[in-house]
Amino acid sequence: MYYNDNTQIYLDGDWLKAGDARVSLYSQTMHYGSGVFEGIRSYNADGEASVFKAEEHYQRLLDSAAKMHIRCDYTVEQLVELSYELLEKNNLKDAYIRPMIFLGDNMTLHTVEKVHLFLCAWEWGKYLGSSLLNVMVSSYERPNPRAVPVEAKVTGHYTNSILATTEAKSKGFDEALLCDENGSVAEGSGANFFYEQDGVLYTPPLGNILPGITRSTAMDIAREMGYEVVEAYFPPQKVKGADGAFFTGTAAEIAGIGWLDGSPFKLDWEDTIGFKIAKAYQKLVRQPSRRTIASA
Ligand code: PMP
Repeated sequence: MYYNDNTQIYLDGDWLKAGDARVSLYSQTMHYGSGVFEGIRSYNADGEASVFKAEEHYQRLLDSAAKMHIRCDYTVEQLVELSYELLEKNNLKDAYIRPMIFLGDNMTLHTVEKVHLFLCAWEWGKYLGSSLLNVMVSSYERPNPRAVPVEAKVTGHYTNSILATTEAKSKGFDEALLCDENGSVAEGSGANFFYEQDGVLYTPPLGNILPGITRSTAMDIAREMGYEVVEAYFPPQKVKGADGAFFTGTAAEIAGIGWLDGSPFKLDWEDTIGFKIAKAYQKLVRQPSRRTIASA
């Protein structure tokens, strides 16, 4: 579960028991989805909590807020510090951290001056499981980037993700792969997408996707290993029957895909570049963070 009687959360400068925290039913975010948030992982690195790419996540949170015209008075450094305090207070190491900036009372469609910061964390195992994913091409498209800033992590955007996963589950699939408004592959419901063909990795460019931190980590790992990574637009037909494919995301990590619309990928997962990246990623995320080293 997300919290119990002892769970401490951070809300607007105070540490509170999760069960004692109160939010207003008149928050604009509650009604119109105009909040921003992050999903961050902390790992147990030699007995110390290590938050993976904490600065990058909080920078993206502040960028998301700016794109939504939401004021945030916290700096990246303050938010990183609060995250470690949160983990300490809850005695967590392998955890998922969920910061959210949500808005004050306002039933109009105008920007709101009053903003709130909420931070919570809970124990985290694995999100998508370790078996290969059975994925369908969704009948839902990702939101049009000319309608909303898709590169911002906005609460309201996730109605699209929930529709796609609900459709996928109802048809017996594990996950959905969504296209952009031009019919090119964009991303999963909560993860970026890569496929492998003839030793090269392909992934959609920025523009119609969330700029995933795991995506850029996977690209760095692949290039360090000497693989070519190409950012390109491609239709789902190009992916079907390719050598391999995987999702990347803070929660999903590097999750191998077994089938797309029932078509299997050619290589065994263990023989793919994705598998090698997944192994390297597991090692990387468990290295002590700079914060852990500084306090040692
Ligand atoms: N796309 C979407 C829509 C997401 O929600 C996520 C998860 N934050 C990602 C991609 C992956 O991003 P990251 O690797 O930064 O977690």
